[in-house]
Amino acid sequence: MSASKSSATKSSASTTSASTIAVATLGTPRIGPRRELKLALESFWSGASDEKALRETAAGLRAANWARQKKLGITVIPSNDFSFYDQVLDTSVMVGAIPEIYGWKGGEVPLATYFAMARGSETQAHDDACAHGHGHGHGVPAQEMTKWFDTNYHYMVPDLRKDQTFALASRKPIEEYQEAKALGYQTRPVLIGPVTFLKLAKSSDAGFDPLSLLDRLLPVYVEILRELAASGAEWVQLDEPCLVLDLDAAARDALRRAYTTFAEALPDLKIMLTTYFGGLGDNLSTAVALPVAGLHLDLVRAPNQIDDVLKKAPKGLVLSLGIIDGRNIWRANLPEMLDRLEPVIARRGAGQIQISPSCSLLHVPIDLDLETDLDSDLKGWLAFSVQKMGELATLGTALADGRDSVKDVLVASATAAAARKASPKVHDAAVAKRVATLTPALGKRVSAFNERARIQHERFKLPRFPTTTIGSFPQTADIRNARAAHARGALSDAAYETFLQNQTARTVRWQENIGLDVLVHGEFERNDMVQYFGEQLAGFAFTKHGWVQSYGSRYVRPPVLFGDVSRARPMTVEWWTYAQSLTKRPMKAMLTGPVTILNWSFVRDDIPRSAACRQIALAIRDEVADLEAAGAGMIQIDEAALREGLPLRESEWQNYLDWAVESFRICSSCVRDETQIHTHMCYSEFNDIIDAIGAMDADVISIETSRSKMELLDAFKGYRYPNEIGPGVYDIHSPRVPEIGEMTELLKLARQRLSDAQLWINPDCGLKTRKWGEVRPALTNMVAAARELRALP
Ligand code: GLN
Ligand code: ZN
Repeated sequence: MSASKSSATKSSASTTSASTIAVATLGTPRIGPRRELKLALESFWSGASDEKALRETAAGLRAANWARQKKLGITVIPSNDFSFYDQVLDTSVMVGAIPEIYGWKGGEVPLATYFAMARGSETQAHDDACAHGHGHGHGVPAQEMTKWFDTNYHYMVPDLRKDQTFALASRKPIEEYQEAKALGYQTRPVLIGPVTFLKLAKSSDAGFDPLSLLDRLLPVYVEILRELAASGAEWVQLDEPCLVLDLDAAARDALRRAYTTFAEALPDLKIMLTTYFGGLGDNLSTAVALPVAGLHLDLVRAPNQIDDVLKKAPKGLVLSLGIIDGRNIWRANLPEMLDRLEPVIARRGAGQIQISPSCSLLHVPIDLDLETDLDSDLKGWLAFSVQKMGELATLGTALADGRDSVKDVLVASATAAAARKASPKVHDAAVAKRVATLTPALGKRVSAFNERARIQHERFKLPRFPTTTIGSFPQTADIRNARAAHARGALSDAAYETFLQNQTARTVRWQENIGLDVLVHGEFERNDMVQYFGEQLAGFAFTKHGWVQSYGSRYVRPPVLFGDVSRARPMTVEWWTYAQSLTKRPMKAMLTGPVTILNWSFVRDDIPRSAACRQIALAIRDEVADLEAAGAGMIQIDEAALREGLPLRESEWQNYLDWAVESFRICSSCVRDETQIHTHMCYSEFNDIIDAIGAMDADVISIETSRSKMELLDAFKGYRYPNEIGPGVYDIHSPRVPEIGEMTELLKLARQRLSDAQLWINPDCGLKTRKWGEVRPALTNMVAAARELRALP
């Protein structure tokens, strides 16, 4: 490209005259409006297409993304926000933090190594490497994956050793910066900051804190920053969301050292330090004192922090005001936002301000315009990534040229906000009335647990160590095909129903045959444990293309909770009745709990989350009552996502746990003593919230523990869990079939902390992702393990 073009694009992005306001995005969805990245990845992984095709698709998505932002009026456009799989994995690879098992020998990291870290590999990626590598032939496991802060995005956990060294092993940030530049865009490259990177890392070396590797890591960052600057980057965005967490002195010191190092090494490079998913809180003084050119604030989660920041920020610091919600899908009320922004700009000066979404737009769907079937009122209240960029651009224009210059857009925005506020689709007087009359008595069972347990034991007469499963059985290709055929009208309602009945009947018979004590129907009629209920409840809507990356090539379409929630008619009673009619053994009814439904949806922002949760709890309560009336003796209410909803700051935990537990109790306490309430939770780190779990007062809880070798039970050192409990005895996340002896060993551990009368035996989660070939031997062994245990004195 010509030199003149290059310098022209350079000045357009980052020099702001006194009256114009820089409009930024911190990152954009990378998956493509039609999930193009997923298709390209899966085609590549299956061998149907080659690396060149994959790279071409990726470059096309990036180019389209840049063009879209430019067209919409974004003036500060990011690069390196693209990733084939995950931006934390990209960072591990960039700094050469690649565990030995992946066989990397230095140099540019091959794509095969990258994907082995992401997904594991059956056989080593290069079979011919066997002569000089290790771990070949047996395959390698993927890196561990965990949730990115409090989002439903999962990142690959960096795995660092005490003797870890770092070296620049991927030039992706530089390449993508240059790629954009060649297309005429001066971008602001995004990197995960070194402190957040180390804070997110784990180490298999006991007692070793990855943060102590900072000094070894910084030179690699300096090298990258230097190359970016040499390529022409004026600004670089460094994400340090760890600044919204509870930090100790060591972490704050690490931040100071890191950013002082960068400022000294690259005095002319401007760093936009971004914080998001919360307020700076007690890290505010640390943050504003760092020697950076800009600081980004999440003003959606923490709107009030602007006052403190304005007081404390040094004069030259550019403030990036994250006021468009990057975590939710509601259309903004733009005039209201201008009311908030104008005084800040008046005080600080336009040249010192950028406006932006609260965080990367990675966490919202791409384009609302693709939703042709959505209720038109509801559609008028929503904004996805593309629409949010448009909102930002409008704000920028209004701030620079006055509100009149975008009058129509502002009026439309305010009108939509008013319509939403007043809409009968959102507000249901009957729901409001019911919530207003909620009393604590609604959340209380008739008798205390001991009395209930006595009555339930008499009723069910189960053997010691009863065996059961968590609910779902394999969702086979047959089932998915039948569901798809039914959805497009190729399979009639009646034929689909018969098909599902046959699947259920087969599964019930099989459970009887292998000797399980408490049966489940298998959940074959459910597409997803939240969607299934959302589709039957008032107040929820579903999109067709509203995909959001959950991890790698797995995307989800979260339900949209837009209005008051109620249940018109029973949702699960027919299926339960059918399943129970097939057996004399207890058939657990299966429901998803209110907290999980809430945590896995886009939730309305016009009432507190706790209030929305209570409404869902009342709707589920109606279902529980109907199930009991239909004869269900055991009702399981899954709260798979209760733990993951825990706020980022410990000071906010108790408030969350209080309303979460209250909601569970509201939906589960309407039953008689002889009705046994079960619950299930995923995720094994319960130690810090175990008393809240006790306070839910479910008669039986099943819980994930097998991956951590019953580490959960440590929680019972100081706290005696009062009710019955099934600590998962094998890991359903792996295809491996557990041996009888492994499970009896785990159960022996469990018996050291729990009384025999408390113990149930079950896998650690639902079986829908497994194959029958794995489930059959695994559960058969599990029943055998229970029998062995019963034979012991
Ligand atoms: N009952 C659900 C199932 O078995 C629970 C799933 C979950 O906890 N994620 O699939
Ligand atoms: Zn689970």
